Amino acid sequence: MIPGRLAEVPEAAQRIAGNEVVLRAVNERIAEKTFDLESRGLTSSDETSEYLCACGRPDCTESMNLTLAEFRKAHERVDQSIVVPGHHLPAIEDVVDEHDGYAVVRTKPGHRPADLDG
Ligand SMILES: [Zn+2]
Repeated sequence: MIPGRLAEVPEAAQRIAGNEVVLRAVNERIAEKTFDLESRGLTSSDETSEYLCACGRPDCTESMNLTLAEFRKAHERVDQSIVVPGHHLPAIEDVVDEHDGYAVVRTKPGHRPADLDG
């Protein structure tokens, strides 16, 4: 038995933060591919691609359609990612921008996995 205060962020939230790093990497690959197609004239810049919801819930299989420009704007900061509206975790994230079909969330200070920096 551990007396006293419970940790403010339960283990589950930390695991979710780890999942977010993976999902973010997957989405970045999608953005790279889209950029490649655009630069070869194979798709237009107003064409959307399917990105994964980065909420990190183990059972989340939702995705969102964004243009490359929208994706890049959402990821201007290293501590931001995109989720389906309503999928953010208020304990560790703030919604900074809401759009049709997706929301931009920013991880609160102190809850960023170390490997986000770098
Ligand atoms: Zn989700």
